[in-house]
Amino acid sequence: MITQLIGDGFRQDAMQLEKLAGYAGDEKVLNRLLEVKMANKRRLKKYILDTQGIDIDENSIFDIQVKRLHEYKRQQMNALYVIFKYLDIKRGNIPSTPVTVIFGAKAAPAYTIAKDIIHLILCLQQLINNDPDVSPYLKVVMIENYNVTKAEYIIPACDVSEQISLASKEASGTGNMKFMLNGAVTLGTMDGANVEIAQLVGEDNIYVFGESSEQVIAHYEKNDYNSCDIYINDEVIRYLVDFIISPQMLRIGSKYSLLRLHAELIQKDWFMTLLDLNDYIFKKEEVFRDYENRTEWASKMLINISKAGYFSSDRTISEYNKDIWHLQ
Ligand SMILES: *Cc1c(COP(=O)(O)O)cnc(C)c1O
Repeated sequence: MITQLIGDGFRQDAMQLEKLAGYAGDEKVLNRLLEVKMANKRRLKKYILDTQGIDIDENSIFDIQVKRLHEYKRQQMNALYVIFKYLDIKRGNIPSTPVTVIFGAKAAPAYTIAKDIIHLILCLQQLINNDPDVSPYLKVVMIENYNVTKAEYIIPACDVSEQISLASKEASGTGNMKFMLNGAVTLGTMDGANVEIAQLVGEDNIYVFGESSEQVIAHYEKNDYNSCDIYINDEVIRYLVDFIISPQMLRIGSKYSLLRLHAELIQKDWFMTLLDLNDYIFKKEEVFRDYENRTEWASKMLINISKAGYFSSDRTISEYNKDIWHLQ
């Protein structure tokens, strides 16, 4: 589709993707872009059905977080959003477009809390996908054994790219770039290369939330982040965190693992999951509302693709050469 619109010069010089921005108001191009995205979503749907036997709705929003499992990347914050959404739908708040939350992650074998977070996601997958009140509107998929081959199915099918690391912790990230190049819209913190993505696409084409690097660094310096205080004082957060050790969850999963993760979030939470949770839930609901306007959303997709050329390694290497190597 890109070649038809702007020729194939972008294959040599990724900055030429910028030419696509000229079509951001062209409804025919935007509709075609949505068709390409739908074809990629159908491809992932089939792959997940064939490999894991889970049937997801291609008309749902594909909200995706795939990356190493680490507390600083905050998959646990996304899991708490899933709990929020599950309980919200249970209360009768049906989303106009269903949502599929997809995770993929590997954990180092000795990283206990990482494995507890994977276990939490697996429990939520079992609870939610088998709940007939909720599963038409919300599904959870933990992709097994995330790797590059799987990434090739997952990334082109993404609508919302989850880049929610605690600000100041991610050096750059590269998943964020792969997703924007494939027409996903980022929901993220001002961390790593999300900062550059935000500068490139502009505030209308990215969703930013959470405290800044400066604020987070100040919390570490003053030692003034206390997750237990948030847990005690914020009724909604307490309700979501306590759901981890609710009877329905303890029936599904390992008590040992769920109780350990619950304690970790309240007693330590070194990577400040609860700090940005309310802001995250609020912003994610805004993303899902905006998704409803398909033409405006497609325009955000196109702008993201058009600005992704900046992240070509060719540009990085030529900057190294100009600034450091001085090769002729
Ligand atoms: C790109 C990639 C990563 C890195 O993702 P981040 O979001 O930058 O952490 C990890 N694993 C695989 C398989 C990838 O393709």
